[in-house]
Amino acid sequence: MNFLKDRDVLLVTIHQKEKVIKPLLEGQFGCHMHVSPLDTDQFGTFTREVSRQQSQFDTARRKVTMGLKLTNHRVGVASEGMFGFHPLAPIPWNTELVLLKDDELELELYGYYEGLNTNFSHTIVQDYPAALQFANQVGFPDHHVILRADDEHSSVILKDIMNESLLQEAFKYCFYKSTNRQVFIETDMRAYANPTRMKNIEIATRQLIEQANSLCPSCGTPGFRIVQKVPGRLCEQCHTPTKQIVQHVYACSTCQCQQTKDLEDIYASPRYCDLCNP
Ligand SMILES: [Zn+2]
Ligand SMILES: [Zn+2]
Repeated sequence: MNFLKDRDVLLVTIHQKEKVIKPLLEGQFGCHMHVSPLDTDQFGTFTREVSRQQSQFDTARRKVTMGLKLTNHRVGVASEGMFGFHPLAPIPWNTELVLLKDDELELELYGYYEGLNTNFSHTIVQDYPAALQFANQVGFPDHHVILRADDEHSSVILKDIMNESLLQEAFKYCFYKSTNRQVFIETDMRAYANPTRMKNIEIATRQLIEQANSLCPSCGTPGFRIVQKVPGRLCEQCHTPTKQIVQHVYACSTCQCQQTKDLEDIYASPRYCDLCNP
């Protein structure tokens, strides 16, 4: 069942996410995507002028709900990114969500990217060579940077710095405006300014497509998806159950249908075993 065939689908973004999302969804489903001019920065910016009030999922849902209301579409897509640190280690971490909401079928489908493939970082510099060095480390000029006078809270902020002469000018300006003779420099995480992030949004979109193509075996609704991961793979040495995942539980979002699927590997390496590798 191709529930999107020939339908008009809204895409809520002001940061050019259509570059990756539109060709993938149109190519896969034969729908027609229209980009909404809704100012998504009102829901939060990465540069802290507007802080996000809700969870990543709820923010994406608000974006798409508001977009559908304003444009009279019945089905729409929005995405929301999150940057921070890995839950267990001090390494930069990116989560991308792409959410599709269909008010006609009363369906929500989504895809995620979660991983450490990001250039998310910042530093404070006292001279231009140090600013340039930071920029080079984070993939400038393909990846843009943002500069501020003094620190991350300064209202003196320059964005869309995408070449060396702009970087030089921005540094001079922020340095001149600073009270501590220092400049705050950070990666620009807006999708169009950050090819690494755009790639992650693409991966999340592909996962959304996979979910849309996964139909409930009972009622045929798209979005038959993993709702639980069951641990218990056996240690291949001593056959004790480990915390490694052995089964996925799939469920339909519409009817009560559930299915449990065993993963191919039933044995885990002894390094995950509490007995063999305490
Ligand atoms: Zn063992
Ligand atoms: Zn079902």
